[in-house]
Amino acid sequence: MNNTAIILAAGVGKRMQAGKNKQFIELQGKTVLERTLEVFAQNPLVEKLVLVVKAGEEEICRSLLRAETAAKTLIVTGGKERQDSVYNGLKAISWQCDYILVHDGARPLVTNEVIERTLIAAQEHGAAVCAVPVKDTIKQADESGQVITTLPRSSLWSVQTPQAFKADKLISAYEYAYQKGYYGTDDASLLEYNSQKVQIVMGDYENIKLTTPEDVELAMRILAKRPKGVIE
Ligand code: C5P
Repeated sequence: MNNTAIILAAGVGKRMQAGKNKQFIELQGKTVLERTLEVFAQNPLVEKLVLVVKAGEEEICRSLLRAETAAKTLIVTGGKERQDSVYNGLKAISWQCDYILVHDGARPLVTNEVIERTLIAAQEHGAAVCAVPVKDTIKQADESGQVITTLPRSSLWSVQTPQAFKADKLISAYEYAYQKGYYGTDDASLLEYNSQKVQIVMGDYENIKLTTPEDVELAMRILAKRPKGVIE
């Protein structure tokens, strides 16, 4: 099997207020981007990486790659929205590829277990996302904040990345979405829009997306308790 991972690092990350792309924040001596890439680069199920970066950050990102990672990574310039960045990544894949994983560069704490579980489910079902059951009660409200309804918690999942897909299914879903002018908030929603089934597998509560400064503190605490060498 030829599996390719698209790693997204072309966001602005305004809510982080770091004064730089959040992918360059250091967590225990390594940038967020290096950490995320290395987890995928050393995973034996992932043959190639497409790293999608902001226009103008191609060279600095390239300089962060270790030689073994660089050898299997193609760097591509991202787009306005996350979906545009993924699409640029997809269009740049010129090699034969069976499954595609899409992962937020801002989730450096992803583990091999989660990557493998998601990929195996995609091989069985065609499309899979990792997710965790929501812990809070989720209410839907109108613009004034007045509650409309309380959603049934037992069926709600908080969705993460990686999301994994049979390559042709993902490419068709993206092409269809662009034909129709549809924008989703994750990759799986484009398959859902194209009436394709998507399987949920258990993610990891530690697979957080670094969005605000509190997330960086939490990430440091999670890293500090992980055994050295696991994803160091
Ligand atoms: O903004 P947010 O944190 O939700 O973005 C999720 C991931 O998508 C991040 O890793 C970010 O770098 C990436 N992204 C991108 N291109 C964009 C917007 C976001 O690659 N235009």
